[in-house]
Amino acid sequence: MSKVKYYYDSETLSYKKIERRKGRQLGIVFLSIAGAFLAGFILLVIYLNIPQLETPKEKALRRELENMKLQYGLLNRKMNQVQEVLANVEDRDNNIYRLYFEANPIPEEQRLAGFGGINRYKDLEGFDNSKLIIESHKKLDILTKRLVVQSRSLDEIVSLAEDKQALLASIPAIMPVKNEHLKRMASGYGWRTDPFTKVRKFHYGMDFSAPRGTPVYASGDGVVRRADNRSSGYGRHIRIDHGFGYTSLYAHLYKYNVRAGQKVKRGDLIGFVGSTGRSQGPHLHYEIFKDDDRINPLNFYYGHLSPAEYDEILQQAQQENQSLD
Ligand SMILES: [Zn+2]
Repeated sequence: MSKVKYYYDSETLSYKKIERRKGRQLGIVFLSIAGAFLAGFILLVIYLNIPQLETPKEKALRRELENMKLQYGLLNRKMNQVQEVLANVEDRDNNIYRLYFEANPIPEEQRLAGFGGINRYKDLEGFDNSKLIIESHKKLDILTKRLVVQSRSLDEIVSLAEDKQALLASIPAIMPVKNEHLKRMASGYGWRTDPFTKVRKFHYGMDFSAPRGTPVYASGDGVVRRADNRSSGYGRHIRIDHGFGYTSLYAHLYKYNVRAGQKVKRGDLIGFVGSTGRSQGPHLHYEIFKDDDRINPLNFYYGHLSPAEYDEILQQAQQENQSLD
């Protein structure tokens, strides 16, 4: 509120109000406002055109921002390198490990699954450096996903490897009679003359001729399913279930060293050579079953024979002689 001013009129000897003219008053107000605007505008122009005028705090922030951008760039490059290493591991996983353990390769789409569709980086949009930050986030998310898939694949391979180890320990892979105890390998798998009827008949096992009482060994890890003479022709015999579809059979034994239900390891002494059942003389009749079919045991002696020993056994097994049954 402006003060009312008076002046002394010497003619009327009284105080009179000083009346300001309205127009002049308005002019002063207008000029003041215009002046203020002009000053503001000039300051703004100066501020926008001379960056040196930034405050120390702004300068520090700007440097920090630049450093951040640089670091983001470096991180992105490092992530690219990690991606390359991971791609190499995935490649080996698909083409060596999974192949070796007979598992299907994991397709590229599955390793990268879950990155289409919804925009999961919406919150990061709308800033000057959004592109850089989104790119980094995306890269890291994809890396994480691929690592999880890779890790699961390795878990699967570990379990496959354990199975394979169990399989290798279980399959009947050694000769059931020690080579030095053999008189000779009497007869192999195939068409042979029956020692009793003299008729050609398929001989489903291998006959190892050895003196009565010669030790007989389990040819692989497993469980003794039978140790009895209730199977026609085999006499006292043992059947070992090795799992994975394999069973081995040891016939015409003189004595048992195991009982049904017992767990055995490859090389365990299970019985002794004899001539019980339908047999021509002391020998071990040995059979291998795979999924209930009898297969040639000759293909399984890679466990402990030298190449020369194997060759000799092979020669003998192929002779179409008379079996001992
Ligand atoms: Zn036989």
